[in-house]
Amino acid sequence: MHELGVTESIAAICLKHAQRNHAKRIVKVNVKLGDLAGIVDHYVSFYWDMVTKDTVAQGAELNFIKVPVAAYCRKCDEEFAVEEFDLTCPKCGEADTELVSGREFLVESIEIE
Ligand SMILES: [Zn+2]
Repeated sequence: MHELGVTESIAAICLKHAQRNHAKRIVKVNVKLGDLAGIVDHYVSFYWDMVTKDTVAQGAELNFIKVPVAAYCRKCDEEFAVEEFDLTCPKCGEADTELVSGREFLVESIEIE
């Protein structure tokens, strides 16, 4: 279970941001989470309450923005949504493609007071 580690990382980013901006408390944190990141949001939420206890982030809402898996075709410049791990291009049928999104796990924005 690596969710504890990533949750601690998110909390550290938020607390640093809050300190830099002299925030009284953190209201909401938006986190981008790709379908391929291999992170279960439910566990992150669970650890979030634990690691933010007695900090300015305590009680802050953790909002996950799900990022679908998308790929790009080098042959025909098509960008498409990947379903069922199929990386072949739906337009030209080639497999000369690369993932462009889906592995994200990052803090997108932090709302403070
Ligand atoms: Zn193509």
